[in-house]
Amino acid sequence: METFNLLKKAMENEFKKQFLTGTTGHFHKSLQQDAREKAWCANETNRNFIRTMSGLRSNHGICKSYLMKNKLADSDSCLCGSEETLEHLIPVLSTTIVDEPFSTN
Ligand SMILES: [Zn+2]
Repeated sequence: METFNLLKKAMENEFKKQFLTGTTGHFHKSLQQDAREKAWCANETNRNFIRTMSGLRSNHGICKSYLMKNKLADSDSCLCGSEETLEHLIPVLSTTIVDEPFSTN
């Protein structure tokens, strides 16, 4: 058990180090600056909610801008003519910092 605990602590420390020094995940880090002990969805059971929120938190939510970036759409234009980004579709994303766990309960 002692070996398990040491290995677990080493993995947690490595995760925190990579979270702070990694070169990816800038959007997520703008929402949550620290590496947490528990994932935001640790108490969430709705898989669709977790999938949707994970997409939003990582800036990989499905919108034309994301699809075009990944060569899955020919245009990133919204019906209104603007670039269709998550911030365009959900304006509150650009003005609100979501830093607390979100629950559907
Ligand atoms: Zn639009």
